[in-house]
Amino acid sequence: MLEKFIVTIDGTSSTGKSTIAKRIARKLSYTYIDSGAMYRALTFFCLEQKIISKSFFKKDVLLKKLNNIKIDFKKNPKNNILEINLNGAFVEDKIRTIMVSDFVSILAKLDDVRTFMVKIQHSLGEKKGVVMDGRDIGTVVFPNAEYKFFLEASPKLRAERRFNELKKNNNKVSYEDVYNNIISRDTHDINRLNSPLKMASDSIFIDTESLDLDEVENIILNHITS
Ligand code: C5P
Repeated sequence: MLEKFIVTIDGTSSTGKSTIAKRIARKLSYTYIDSGAMYRALTFFCLEQKIISKSFFKKDVLLKKLNNIKIDFKKNPKNNILEINLNGAFVEDKIRTIMVSDFVSILAKLDDVRTFMVKIQHSLGEKKGVVMDGRDIGTVVFPNAEYKFFLEASPKLRAERRFNELKKNNNKVSYEDVYNNIISRDTHDINRLNSPLKMASDSIFIDTESLDLDEVENIILNHITS
């Protein structure tokens, strides 16, 4: 049987990690796991349940409920794609809003939240054959992964890419809001005490500033298949 690997793709916000991770998974016939979607689903839950807002954060309520929250990836019968599932409901179309983006990094700082997510991520990677993208996948979640990549690009380019994507999906949002959100999330993610965003020492760095998706995909596939 062909040996299966774990491939990790980390990096700052909106560097194209998930698009690339999806492509690599398809090429290798691996499972793609979007770890950011897990943090986003929890944030969506907290907004819906009025656990967090601009004026309050009921951290105790979240911590009490946490272990009864079910976050998983399931095949959505509507499109046959493995999608994020929150307590039995597919929420992919609800977790990409600027509202969720504004709160997600605050929740992602909490020790209990990270422990909760890492446990699920470990079980998803148990059988290998997984491409997982995020912030701490190569450093904390799978430090022994066979292939690790770290993507980077300037904040301006990342904001442009994200803004165009959101606009394409009919999200009413300004470029400025997207830019500010990216800077704010990076700041939270890099400076948090638990599992901060940083490149693993054995990770391959890819500056995507002047590369298109095909070029990034080829660089990664060349490393894995050579
Ligand atoms: O990948 P995405 O941008 O959707 O992730 C949303 C947020 O979730 C990040 O800004 C970060 O705060 C958090 N996250 C994390 N660790 C991961 C993946 C995402 O802290 N492995």
